[in-house]
Amino acid sequence: MKTLITNAYILDMVGDTANIEKKDILINDDIIEKIEKDIDKNIEIDEKINAKNMLIMPGLINTHTHLAMSIFRGYKADKKLMDWLENAIFPVEDKLKPEDIYWNSYLSCLEMIKSGTTTCNDMYFGMNKTVEAINDTGLRAVVAWCIKDDSIKDKVEQTREYAKRYNKKNSKIKIYVSADAPHTCNPKTIKLCVDLAKELNTGIHMHLAETIEEETKIKSKYKKRSTEYLNDLNVFDVPVVLAHGIYISDTDIEILKRIKGGISHNPISNCKLSSGICDVVKLRKNGINVGLGTDGIGSTTTMDMFEEMKTAAYLQKVNTMEPTSILAYDILKMATIEGAKVLGLENEIGTIEVGKKADIIFIKNDKLHLCPDNDVCANIVYSANGADVDSVMINGKMIMQNRKMINLDEKQVMKQVKKIAKKLL
Ligand SMILES: [Zn+2]
Repeated sequence: MKTLITNAYILDMVGDTANIEKKDILINDDIIEKIEKDIDKNIEIDEKINAKNMLIMPGLINTHTHLAMSIFRGYKADKKLMDWLENAIFPVEDKLKPEDIYWNSYLSCLEMIKSGTTTCNDMYFGMNKTVEAINDTGLRAVVAWCIKDDSIKDKVEQTREYAKRYNKKNSKIKIYVSADAPHTCNPKTIKLCVDLAKELNTGIHMHLAETIEEETKIKSKYKKRSTEYLNDLNVFDVPVVLAHGIYISDTDIEILKRIKGGISHNPISNCKLSSGICDVVKLRKNGINVGLGTDGIGSTTTMDMFEEMKTAAYLQKVNTMEPTSILAYDILKMATIEGAKVLGLENEIGTIEVGKKADIIFIKNDKLHLCPDNDVCANIVYSANGADVDSVMINGKMIMQNRKMINLDEKQVMKQVKKIAKKLL
């Protein structure tokens, strides 16, 4: 199937500075085949998309999610992480049925697509139902069954089974191994996850140094920092996605400089739970990839990556007291190509280039709050929001057009999730 996008102003996210050009894009099935001025309109085309008044850029990449947590939006808010988890979330999670996980995940998937995210990196339990929701909504995703000391056997088996099914060339879904966090996984559990990742030739997704309480716990138990704890257990022999990374010392940075993958920065979750500020500027200065993530709804507020971009920028500017410490284009890189590097998908997604997968978002820019467009990148990061995304293409297929989901029922999923919330909360 050949699709031609015309009249497109493309922010390709390829170079070190923003490059915006008006060109046509020819897509062959799932792959970008040509990006040129005035592609011959006489060639046989199955679908033509006129991108007039649109800015086109790579789909956003959300590097840390718990999709099935949409049910917890606003639930017992205004608590710190451990209090919130232990007294609000864990008791309800125990009651979640597989069907609940499906619908909760489905809602997060639709919310992501509607705000321009085309890839996410998810970890939770009951992931077979989340994978079903991801497949049904058309997203691209990396997924992992979250392993803790008290829940190992079934999750290892399911990780193995799904990795065999999905970790193939051209698969939209990739399976990672997930060790939950240093403070919930003892050395034996972590070693098991590292061995499993090596056996399956895949990476590890885990939380790292999210709160000062966790760091203190690890330090008193193992007499080392959590990054050192993971390093000593050879976690960094495999590619990693490390969510949060707030309590990172200079010695930790020396260790993290060598990792494949990177850190997932979740600014809104870190603010809402009063966890702390990740020093993104310092990490990136040291050559460590930093992507952006929302975390699960509840600890964040929405799945809108535009909100994360804005918050990430402002947090760094106030943390360094220097407005140039991070620029709008740096933030856009974190939400696209740098996020792709964190997930090891930089050869497939993250930029608009010939040979890459056609994961493309269309941002409508003839709007009051985006007028005038003195600086396109500044407008996207500081002024735009998820609702400005007009259309979304994933893997060469239009999933949303003119803000209408194609073949996906928003009303049905809201009805289901409201029912689950009424039953459990
Ligand atoms: Zn998380």
